[in-house]
Amino acid sequence: MRFAQVVGHENVKAILQRFYAEQKIPHALLFHGEEGVGKKTTALAFFSLINCLNPTNDMDSCGECHPCKQISALSFPDLYVVQKPEDKTVIGIDVCRDVLSRTFFKPVSARYRCILLDNAHFLSPEAGNAMLKVLEEPPRNNIFVLVTDCPDSMLPTIVSRCCAFPFGALSQAQVLAVLKRVMPEEEEQKLVDVSVISKGSVSRALTMLKSAIDRRLFIQGLGEAVMGDDAKRLAFSRYLVQSKDSAECLTDFLKVVLQDILFCVTANEMKVSNKDLLDEMRPLARTISLSGILESLQTLHQYDKNRAYSPNLQVTIDCALTALAQKNP
Ligand SMILES: [Zn+2]
Repeated sequence: MRFAQVVGHENVKAILQRFYAEQKIPHALLFHGEEGVGKKTTALAFFSLINCLNPTNDMDSCGECHPCKQISALSFPDLYVVQKPEDKTVIGIDVCRDVLSRTFFKPVSARYRCILLDNAHFLSPEAGNAMLKVLEEPPRNNIFVLVTDCPDSMLPTIVSRCCAFPFGALSQAQVLAVLKRVMPEEEEQKLVDVSVISKGSVSRALTMLKSAIDRRLFIQGLGEAVMGDDAKRLAFSRYLVQSKDSAECLTDFLKVVLQDILFCVTANEMKVSNKDLLDEMRPLARTISLSGILESLQTLHQYDKNRAYSPNLQVTIDCALTALAQKNP
């Protein structure tokens, strides 16, 4: 993995390259930002650069030497990827003990031992304290990259030991570029469709691709539900919650469409995500009241905030659609 293959995050890449050029590499870095924007990919590109045998003049790894190839394949003997076991709710001390004890020895073959701690907010208190001890007195030649989309849930003492980098959302064009690379066989229009509604996250785009949303039919269905009677609304809300796999994508897409309608109402059509469907959305923008859109969006955001406590999706959608049914006077 090379920096040239990492889409976006130019500022982060430039700073990491400067660390390398000046040989002042912090022993602990924290990459935080939404899921699916490239934090782990950037970490691997950085690990490649600092261990590459033939780095390029523009401060990138070669992608061809033994360490570069092994890091891409995650088979590098001095690369450790620490993750939460699927059947556990935390990253326990048992998972971290081995890698932390190794940090006191020299790397096997590399210049730097690289430790990628994925979803670092899942560290148990015990594992967090063990990690903190190592970060307070870091043994030489160990570089930790902690990755999280929830930095607020981490021990503040760990966060304060790390050099933190915020990762923003990708643009629609950037998401599309990554999708084209990872799914070269997929029909281009499908990739364009999910990149439009991905809100800057490649992983969200990939989930949406699996659930195969037809945007035009979705907006038509929403129109019928909002303009029609209770039975139409019930039918549309049932469609939204029908399948466990796609329900999350469909409610995410409903938010994107409502934001688009809000842009239409407020004469900001330039900001609309589904630009190709403006003809379908304009009648909705004329019909639905502004307060109805805002109330509905608030209901959906509240649902997201409480998602960990399994709120009732059907009730949420029914409330959101009822709010939308309040027409302009
Ligand atoms: Zn190399």
